[in-house]
Amino acid sequence: MAGTGVWDDEYDVVVAGSGAGAMTGALTAASHGLRTVVLEKTSLLGGTSAYAGAAVWLPGTRVQERAGIGDSTESARAYLRALLGEDADGRQEAFLATAPEVAEFLERDPAIEFEWRPFPDYYAVPGRMDAGRSFVPLDLPAERLGGLASLVRPPVDRDRTGRGHAGAALAQGRALIGRLLLALTNTGNATVRTGVRLRHLVVENGRVTGVEVDTADGPARIRAARGVLLAAGGFEGSGAMRAEHGVPGAAEWSMAPAGANTGDPIMAAVAAGAATELMDQAWWCPGVADENGRGCFTLGFRGGLVVDSAGRRFANESLPYDRMGREMAAAPERVPAYLVFDSRHADALPAISIPSLPRSAWVEAGSLDELAEKLGLPAAALAATVERFNGFARDGVDADFHRGEDPYDLFFAGRSEGVGPNPCLVPVDRPPYFAARLVLSDLGTKGGLRTDTEGRVLDGAGRPIAGLYAAGNTSASFSGRVYPGPGVPIGSAMVFAYRAARDMAE
Ligand code: FAD
Repeated sequence: MAGTGVWDDEYDVVVAGSGAGAMTGALTAASHGLRTVVLEKTSLLGGTSAYAGAAVWLPGTRVQERAGIGDSTESARAYLRALLGEDADGRQEAFLATAPEVAEFLERDPAIEFEWRPFPDYYAVPGRMDAGRSFVPLDLPAERLGGLASLVRPPVDRDRTGRGHAGAALAQGRALIGRLLLALTNTGNATVRTGVRLRHLVVENGRVTGVEVDTADGPARIRAARGVLLAAGGFEGSGAMRAEHGVPGAAEWSMAPAGANTGDPIMAAVAAGAATELMDQAWWCPGVADENGRGCFTLGFRGGLVVDSAGRRFANESLPYDRMGREMAAAPERVPAYLVFDSRHADALPAISIPSLPRSAWVEAGSLDELAEKLGLPAAALAATVERFNGFARDGVDADFHRGEDPYDLFFAGRSEGVGPNPCLVPVDRPPYFAARLVLSDLGTKGGLRTDTEGRVLDGAGRPIAGLYAAGNTSASFSGRVYPGPGVPIGSAMVFAYRAARDMAE
């Protein structure tokens, strides 16, 4: 935090970060005629948002209406109320009321198009859409972005491993970032700068008036006449902050781009008097460990079973990933856990892993005993667990964890050879056997700066800090300790960044 001094540059709005929330906030501000700058710490735009499937959970919009799926703000309200309880600070209602407006505002731009995709909500409570209500951006041909395309972070496979191709079109999260970038550029009011890291906030007479940044040419001070929007991810990449706040998992198991989200904007705001909440929370997921011990976001289990270090199952493996992650975090013997499967899946892991993993990352054994020995698991316990599970597969009923009873489980079920009446219960009885090590990964932390309905950052007494806004994983999520459905991280980041920019424009 620093006081008055000479400015190197001046804008109406400074946005830190370049994920979906940051870009939506910048586009909203620039569309309202505000001179806006996006400051991105790395050399590439998009952060974790560029890696995402880019499901966007914005209920009750024209996109769902076009798809004729019967979604509505009312059913989403019932769903959120059942999951999150009373709307104590009004953010649930602000989210619901603004979601349709955000989709309409974005789709009014010729660069932005969405379509509904089936992906079930994550909880069986009133208001749930079994087929899902989230939507995705349409792919974006790279030539529409011209030279800007190389600024968008590559897909996670390529970014992490150098394997895979970026493709002729930007897809999923890259399409979302690319489309927002195109729209932002077309406003003529915005500047996008990479390699610029926000370090401190400038506070004058109790108001945030600008930022101090590091650039390749040294430190600089940038004035923000209307306000600063911090939408620069969480602190999942900081081992020190994770330890300080007791976030289960580890920085090296997290999915954020290496070195990107280390929490400095949160620290800068705290130094300016901001309050934080939910600091031990993340959007969790199981992660198959790669050759280097990094976690690869794993979802959609369609075979095998997961055991802890005592060789016991502990959950319905088909649970939505954040719920499975929370089950893993609940006991130390569940991290690492092991996905055990058989030769039915010898060619591909019976789950989706992002990035995809080479077979060399799995352990192979001719018998369950040998597998147990290789993994260091008690052999008798593993054999008993597999035998009981195979009985469930024959009967079609998982008497222990009810796998296959929820629409979400069935959404990912395959049709494996030898499967019985329940497609989610595939026997594990054909050697050779395989196992993949599962660590506790995350898609970002979700605790951070306390904000109000307008994305204004609050101080310890609950008062807005003038000129300071936050959205996305830099802020504490309005969804608390719950991950309601696919696209809530990005959808909520977009809504609160939109509301913040609108507030700055007023
Ligand atoms: P990010 O998108 O990570 O952006 C933060 C940016 O800020 C980064 O570029 C970072 O470099 C920059 N930054 C950090 N510090 C500074 C600083 N000091 N100064 C300037 N810049 C800084 N969520 C969904 O809603 N739907 C999905 O379909 C979905 N799929 C996913 C699939 C995968 C494989 C993964 C990994 C995640 C997925 N998620 C999804 C989760 C979602 O992508 C993230 O939680 C969300 O995008 C985080 O958005 P953010 O803006 O907070 O952070």
